[in-house]
Amino acid sequence: GMLLSKRYESTAAESDASSPPPTGEKYEYQAEVSRLMDLIVNSLYSNKEVFLRELIRYDDLAGNASDACDKLRFLSVTEPALLKDNVDFDIRIQTDKDNGIVTITDTGIGMTRQELIDCLGTIAQSGTAKFLKALKDSKDAGGDNNLIGQFGVGFYSAFLVADRVVVSTKSPKSDKQYVWEGEANASSYTIREETEADKVIPRGTRLTLYLKRDDKGFAHPEKIQKLVKNYSQFVSFPIYTWQEKG
Ligand code: ADP
Ligand code: MG
Repeated sequence: GMLLSKRYESTAAESDASSPPPTGEKYEYQAEVSRLMDLIVNSLYSNKEVFLRELIRYDDLAGNASDACDKLRFLSVTEPALLKDNVDFDIRIQTDKDNGIVTITDTGIGMTRQELIDCLGTIAQSGTAKFLKALKDSKDAGGDNNLIGQFGVGFYSAFLVADRVVVSTKSPKSDKQYVWEGEANASSYTIREETEADKVIPRGTRLTLYLKRDDKGFAHPEKIQKLVKNYSQFVSFPIYTWQEKG
């Protein structure tokens, strides 16, 4: 926690007045999340590609991006104004292989500031809670290696491959867009308002994964395209993949 807040203070001091740095408000993870993050970050789990399944699609359960589109599509039947002039539901995955960055953008329901705190700082329902329960029941200390794949660890699976994750999101319920930022090995995350004009989205969520040194291969477009094929079979929204220009 200390390190993270220091980092933001020093950024503020060093930067010039013309581009004020985004200062995030700091929040501590719920204890279970910290434990889960530790397990994920330090795990020797080798099937790291499941992160894409969690963020897009998870077998019979909807993954986060398609789930978000489903939720908004459902609500918009009775409240079409929620769509904010953009009726398209889709998921876009952009890769920047030179910098090792994968960006996943959906035009789904997004999150308010409070939802960011409730959803990405505490243990949500389904898969993640089941994972922790199974881990408790498992006597084998290395049990997490199989359990991660079996139950899924939801959003936090991003930290299997990324050491920094930025979630910029806009709910149709809010006129503001917020940025959640977390790092592997940190006990806290930050939330700030999105202030950069070129990052503003009409609605939905953009996840930016800054890949770990050894996992930058996931930023190769061919790799992502192959994984998307595996994990998108039942996703009822188009998934576009493309690559940053040279
Ligand atoms: P689960 O999907 O099992 O609930 P996750 O850790 O994957 O657990 O996600 C936690 C919650 O965060 C979700 O239930 C959802 O409310 C919210 N969330 C995650 N990703 C998105 C997204 N792309 N758009 C909107 N909400 C999201
Ligand atoms: Mg999920």
